[in-house]
Amino acid sequence: MTTILIVEDEQRIASFVEKGLRAEGFTTLWAPTGADGIFHATEGDADLIVLDLGLPDIDGLDALASMRGQGVTTPVIVLTARTTPSATLASLEGGADDYMPKPFRFEELLARIRLRLRAAAPVEQSAHILTHGDIALDLKERTIRANGVTSVLTAREFALAETFLRNPGAVLSRAQLLSRVWGYDFDPNSNVVDVYVRYLRKKIGTDRLETVRGMGYRLT
Ligand code: CA
Repeated sequence: MTTILIVEDEQRIASFVEKGLRAEGFTTLWAPTGADGIFHATEGDADLIVLDLGLPDIDGLDALASMRGQGVTTPVIVLTARTTPSATLASLEGGADDYMPKPFRFEELLARIRLRLRAAAPVEQSAHILTHGDIALDLKERTIRANGVTSVLTAREFALAETFLRNPGAVLSRAQLLSRVWGYDFDPNSNVVDVYVRYLRKKIGTDRLETVRGMGYRLT
């Protein structure tokens, strides 16, 4: 799973971003202070860092300098209300990969996160194809190929397919799939997982997703 570290003191903003990212299948980690952010960054806990500049303990730019100074190469997107050209420049010169002025639209932040993650992906992943047997998921085009047929996936179908392809042969429970694909606040009694497994089966073949009675589903 791809983990996004959110260094942001305002809980309202942090939970807004976390909720959105989890719904897109990311794992999130919240650091309410610069010190917490530096700790997680240097521990290598994150694949990407969203960093607020106005933090209660230290300035975000100093936190960024500290991370980079300790050899952290994780992509950083700065999120801030400071929108002067000099603040933008200071962020980029300080080692940020991108810059988002507040207020921002979640979709725009998400697009930038995806872009930075792609740019940071190791070469072997540059084809953006996840495979299992003859099933191939194109992470860039959001299509899946199985039985010689390529199908376009909706956002949820894609997140579900990606979860299965990243855990081939593992039994994934409804609760695991709900939390990874729909986010933590989804009703656990919902049958949405079964509905989307059905959608996915229509695209890749019924026998590819095995129902493991009482446990969940498995990609065969
Ligand atoms: Ca702040």
